Amino acid sequence: MKEVRNWLLALDELFFPRPLECVFCGERPGTDLGPCRTCLDSLAIAWQRMEVQGYPCFSLVPYRGFARDLIHKMKYHGGYRIAQGFSRLLGLALREELSVSRSGLLVPVPLHASRLEKRGFNHAALLADGISKVWRLPVSSRVVRVRPTKPQSGLTASQRRRNLRGAFALVPGENWQGRQIVIVDDVITSGYTFSTVADLAAAQGGRPLGVFVARTEMDGGGKDSVEKLQTV
Ligand SMILES: [Zn+2]
Repeated sequence: MKEVRNWLLALDELFFPRPLECVFCGERPGTDLGPCRTCLDSLAIAWQRMEVQGYPCFSLVPYRGFARDLIHKMKYHGGYRIAQGFSRLLGLALREELSVSRSGLLVPVPLHASRLEKRGFNHAALLADGISKVWRLPVSSRVVRVRPTKPQSGLTASQRRRNLRGAFALVPGENWQGRQIVIVDDVITSGYTFSTVADLAAAQGGRPLGVFVARTEMDGGGKDSVEKLQTV
């Protein structure tokens, strides 16, 4: 048993060599977790379990301050190392929270092709790739965005729902029946994007749950979202 553990630890080392520099600031030496102590303190990790439309969801931090700046950098300035840092923290935290099914699948929330082309990468896919290294679960790219959508921010609850109608589709060819489907994205706001993808997974017999770096305080989503985004 001990040998297996040592072997896993060695694998962890292989996938995540201790960074010389912090994965977030690149200035101070990193800890075993990736970020330096100062960045870890500034991040103010406050793990939260929520339920969104009946699906369990987990997030690492509130979307504000240093965490918000980092997420912005990750999305708009090619923050590959930042995504690696967040996914390691998320992967380790979630492993404490629930038993990760061996048959599970990681599903990043997709960007529409036009936005992907503009940005060059999908940050949710980077996060899912990082988590897959902690859990050794495959990443599925079968959920696709078939219709471009407006940014959800600034829309009312009913506009958000309308905005996402028919936006996602599932490319057939993978059996999701009974499997844990871990949907990954950077931020959860009203939860409509997540629940649209989760409904798609549930319709295939999957057991969806959500993992996010950050959660916004309930603003802009209206009363509707407050009712559905309950902290448990
Ligand atoms: Zn740092």
